Amino acid sequence: MIPTFADVQAAADRLRGHAHRTPVLTSRRFDAEVGAEVLVKAENLQRMGAFKFRGAFNALAKLDADQRRAGVVAYSSGNHAQAVALAARILGIPATIVMPHDAPAVKVAATKGYGAQVVTYDRYTEDRERLGAQLAAERGLTLIPPYDHPDVVAGQGTAVMELIEDAGPIDALFVPLGGGGLLAGSCLAARALSPQVRIFGVEPEAGDDGRQSLAKGEIVHIDTPVTIADGAQTQHLGATGFPILQREVADVLTASDAELVEVMRIFAATYKTVVEPTGCLGMAAVRALAGRLPGRRIGVVVSGGNVDIERYAALLAGA
Ligand SMILES: *Cc1c(COP(=O)(O)O)cnc(C)c1O
Repeated sequence: MIPTFADVQAAADRLRGHAHRTPVLTSRRFDAEVGAEVLVKAENLQRMGAFKFRGAFNALAKLDADQRRAGVVAYSSGNHAQAVALAARILGIPATIVMPHDAPAVKVAATKGYGAQVVTYDRYTEDRERLGAQLAAERGLTLIPPYDHPDVVAGQGTAVMELIEDAGPIDALFVPLGGGGLLAGSCLAARALSPQVRIFGVEPEAGDDGRQSLAKGEIVHIDTPVTIADGAQTQHLGATGFPILQREVADVLTASDAELVEVMRIFAATYKTVVEPTGCLGMAAVRALAGRLPGRRIGVVVSGGNVDIERYAALLAGA
C-alpha cells in the first residue's frame, strides 16, 4: 500500500499530544550567506532527538490489542531504535531492538533506558533484516521497519506538514535521505500543502544509491557506505516510498563528511543548536547551492541531534 496525504493527516491526529511540534529556526546571517530565506524544521528537538518518533509512534498506535500484547521488534542504527522503544513505553507495548554492536553509545544507552531489550549484531557482516524477521517469527512479535512501511512513512510526513503550516508555502525542500521514509512522507505533505515546491533528497556522498535508483528507475542496492552520517548508512531505498520519490523528487544531491562537519559548526555557532551528522545533509546541499536560490523560501528538515558529545566535540575540533 502506498500512503497518501490523508494518511499523513491521520498520523498527525494520532501524534497530537505525544510528539513535540518542533520549532522552525531561522538565521538572518545564514540567509544572507546563501541568498535565500531558509526555514529549518528542527527535528533534533523532537522527543528522543529525531523525527523517527513520529513514524514509530504512528505505526505502534495502529496495532490491535493482540499485537500490542505480544510486543514489537525493530532493527536500527540508532534513532529508530530509540523511537520504537519510547513509543512502545508510552503505549505500554514490550519492545525488542536489534542494534549494530558499534552503534553510538548514547543511542544504545537511551534505547535500554526506555525499557527495551537490546540484541546486537555486526553491521558489516550480518543481515539485520533477516535477524529482525527471525526474532519476529520466533517470538510472535510485530516487526516495525525503520522506513519501509506505510504507517512509518505517513508519520514521518507530519514534520513537513507542520513546517508548511507554521512557516507558509515554500519554493524548495531539502530532506536527508537514507531509506527514504522521511523523504517520501515529506513529499506527500509538501506536494499537498505547497504544490509548486521542488523537492530534493540529500544523501551521503559515500553511498549515492538513492540517486542511482531514481536515475535507473529501480531500487539499487549498495554495500554499507562508510560515512559519519550513521543515520543514512542504508544499503537501499524502501519499496513503500520509492514510487512516491519517483513521482515527486526533482533530484537527489549528495554531501561529503567534511561538508557535514562544516554544517554542524554552523548549527552550533549560528543557530545555537546541536545537530548530528546525518541531520546536516539537507543544509549541506543548501549551502552548496548558495547564490543559486535567489530570494527563495527554502524548507530544510534537520532530522536529528543524537551524537555522543565527545564525538561531537572531536568532529568540530577537526580530529
Ligand atoms: C533515519 C534517519 C535519517 C534517514 O531517514 P530515512 O527515512 O531512512 O530516509 C536521517 N536522519 C536521521 C537523524 C535519521 O535518524
